[in-house]
Amino acid sequence: MIVLVINAGSSSVKFTLFNMSDGKKVLAQGLIERIGIEGTSMKYSNHKGGKFEQKVQVANPTDAVKEITRNLVSPEYGVLGSLSEINAIGHRIVHGMEKISKPVLLTKEAKEIVRECFSLSPLHNPHNLAGIEACEAVLPGVPNVGVFDTAFHATMPDYAYLYGIDYKWYEKDFIRRYGFHGTSHEYVSRAAASFLGKPYESLRIITCHLGNGASVTAIKDGKCQDTSMGLTPLEGLIMGTRSGDLDPAVVLHIMTLTGKNPKEMDVLLNKESGVLGIGGIGSSDLRDIEEAAGKGNKRCEVALKMFAYRVRKYIGAYIAVLSGLDVLVFTAGAGENSSTLRASVLAGLDELGLTVDPKRNDPRSSEIRQISTDAGRVKVLVVPTNEELAIADLTTGLLKG
Ligand code: ADP
Repeated sequence: MIVLVINAGSSSVKFTLFNMSDGKKVLAQGLIERIGIEGTSMKYSNHKGGKFEQKVQVANPTDAVKEITRNLVSPEYGVLGSLSEINAIGHRIVHGMEKISKPVLLTKEAKEIVRECFSLSPLHNPHNLAGIEACEAVLPGVPNVGVFDTAFHATMPDYAYLYGIDYKWYEKDFIRRYGFHGTSHEYVSRAAASFLGKPYESLRIITCHLGNGASVTAIKDGKCQDTSMGLTPLEGLIMGTRSGDLDPAVVLHIMTLTGKNPKEMDVLLNKESGVLGIGGIGSSDLRDIEEAAGKGNKRCEVALKMFAYRVRKYIGAYIAVLSGLDVLVFTAGAGENSSTLRASVLAGLDELGLTVDPKRNDPRSSEIRQISTDAGRVKVLVVPTNEELAIADLTTGLLKG
């Protein structure tokens, strides 16, 4: 079964083509970025070693899917004899509200739900839908499957997902915690259980997805019990450019001080905050912040401390939520690659059963691995996430029934 995975964002379309029948092999992958902006370009690589990076004429998602599929069958870079070999397309979709809690075939009704979520996810869902419609136009007749970032979190109990505001806001306007990165949290937690050779449902697991966007999830009985992101991805951890948790009065106070409107506040909190705003060196990349801190930049030093402290605070809270802990997982860009961040998050937590072994933590690796000591009660693992593979797996699973 050949599955094309599409992740359509505001100005980019990322793709991965898998042969699920041949060891889930990646046949080709890449992205088109700066769509609709000056300097649109495409990166492409295939399993035969062919690759290119070049400027392309792509003005919208349909052009992007045309350009991707043209290359998938081109004489020079192609990996398929014909586009009819593609059996399914799996789409990453950010928000499904309470209406979608598992992967779905993107029928007219399902697409209507994606549209209904525009107001809660204005930065993502409209682009996700445009990606679906582009695939329908370019690859007619191929089933499109939606895999939703919010779906894994659908099992949270009401006392975890409700906010402490009048209940009418939930009933009428669906304002509640939804959580995001669900595909990644589920993928790495299941991978952790199989790495340890334990039944998934038997483990209390905390997963820390620490990338540019970052979130922590508490899992018990194979189900999400709580997660740090909320109505939108803004809540919870301090992120690359997002503030994470704030006293809501901070927002009101800044609005009063500056006269900023909600749209401007949205930009301030989502794009200008987090380690970008605290570090003050014009970068949201933790590698740059770590380098500047190493050279004595005090604001970058405190940005790193704040980032790690917030993760640590959520871990502590979720140990209480789960009444203990069996497995802690680090994943995504910073979680997988920054040994100093992991060490800082877990420093001095031996009494909670969390003991990192520096000899296991320090070496770089792209493999799933244990970084806790054998004596430590909690298994601490680094598990590389692979959202594209998870989407391809879920798409295949749905279509095979
Ligand atoms: P995204 O969250 O955009 O999907 P990733 O999960 O790949 O992307 O995370 C990217 C982020 O991970 C970078 O912006 C950077 O902050 C962080 N990161 C990646 N590699 C390292 C590293 N070696 N050390 C520290 N941080 C890293």
